[in-house]
Amino acid sequence: FRAMSDEQAKAQTATPEEDTIFDKIVRGDIPCKEVYSDDRVLAFHDVNPTAPVHIIVIPKNRDGLSQLSKAREDQKDLLGHLMYVAQQVGAKECPGGFRVVINDGKDGAQSVYHLHLHVIGGRPMKWPPG
Ligand code: IMP
Repeated sequence: FRAMSDEQAKAQTATPEEDTIFDKIVRGDIPCKEVYSDDRVLAFHDVNPTAPVHIIVIPKNRDGLSQLSKAREDQKDLLGHLMYVAQQVGAKECPGGFRVVINDGKDGAQSVYHLHLHVIGGRPMKWPPG
């Protein structure tokens, strides 16, 4: 028996919500340590980092994008922009390399139903992930 991490435990019960913690961050209701912001995308430090660098990149307007598997064809440009911002943030914060992760759904250990990319680095990553 291996105890579930908090994130795994949360992922078991999390469901698509109307208003997520990331919506509250975008509105400024909850503070964040901002790394990057433009008209469409916000990046900030993860509150519970799994590595020396752990940054979350989100679309400011969730617009149905609770998770990657809900993405619509008209959101392809936004998806590309999110990945480009992840690349810029990762290259700046982790010159030695980094990992970009999207958790999708229960089996993907997703806990916040507002699409987000994890940019993780600052140490050598292990593979495969758990
Ligand atoms: P998921 O498991 O892929 O859904 O990742 C959600 C991430 O959001 C986790 O790494 C959490 O630590 C992070 N997180 C949750 N709440 C906050 C917050 O208020 N600020 C910053 N990061 C958060």
